[in-house]
Amino acid sequence: MKVFFAIISIIFATDALSSLNIEYKPASSEIRKECHLLSEKQVQSKFMFLFELFDGTVLSRLEKPLDLEVRVDDLLGTAQYSSSENVIRLPICFSKESERRSDDVMKGIYAHEYGHAYFHYNMMLKSKKYRFNYEIIQKFETIEAEISVLENKEVANLEELNKLKAQLAVLASSYAKAELDLLFIKGYNEFFADVVAVVYSHNLDIMWEATSSSKKFSAGRERSFSSFHKLDGWQGSSPYFLLSPTRSFLGKMRIHKLSTDHAAQFVSDLFDIIIEQIDITRNTLLDQFEEDPNKIIYLYDVYPVNINSRMIQRIMPLF
Ligand SMILES: [Zn+2]
Repeated sequence: MKVFFAIISIIFATDALSSLNIEYKPASSEIRKECHLLSEKQVQSKFMFLFELFDGTVLSRLEKPLDLEVRVDDLLGTAQYSSSENVIRLPICFSKESERRSDDVMKGIYAHEYGHAYFHYNMMLKSKKYRFNYEIIQKFETIEAEISVLENKEVANLEELNKLKAQLAVLASSYAKAELDLLFIKGYNEFFADVVAVVYSHNLDIMWEATSSSKKFSAGRERSFSSFHKLDGWQGSSPYFLLSPTRSFLGKMRIHKLSTDHAAQFVSDLFDIIIEQIDITRNTLLDQFEEDPNKIIYLYDVYPVNINSRMIQRIMPLF
């Protein structure tokens, strides 16, 4: 109990943390029982790096997301970024399995989430298509939520309900297309966040180590930048693995050795290339989506060879 209150007081006493929009939410005592509580010193050292990340370092050449909030809480599980809330959630204490992860690996995971926050914010600024699709999804889901609130009322306002359902019907086909669009972009988004984690941590295998608690397991090897993922015949099988041959290429280029300044420039150039590549991939696939939107399920099986070879060719001149 003593340690627990010490943790809260450090977080609240540190003005700098609150100026960064970092909020600490203690979980219920039920969950805390499972937690590995940390000493004051450990908490301080765990959170100091957030200053560096927030002030940019490897992300300093991209636009800093406005009003991004970081919530630190006791919930077990993984870190995540929610674009609809603009919040990064970081666990302060870890389940038994993830306790095996070193502090460096945890920092890599946090850097990955910052990568997602920057990706989303900069895509909203620079890609009209992305913003258009994202706004349609938000609008559709807001109306859906309003409908569900009305339907759960004892006396439903039928007129209002029908109006909202009509609005939903009008948006339905654009919503389906927007969702497919964000689904294929997810492969690029995960790749970008992994690159941020690698150049930040100077470790090519950071996301592999993060995914699998021991290298003896093969899980997550596709996210290693030091392993060879053969381009010829590559099948992505998931958004996390779509660009693995490009990961191998970047490992060969030793991106983990880049100085902070070079890494910042590289991350910013890479982001511009990704926007351009997303447009090319979309145009290549567009006809097929129009014909049958379900074809998106083949994306990660059929197209990764072209997606990777185009990407590698564009990145090569950066070195
Ligand atoms: Zn991710």
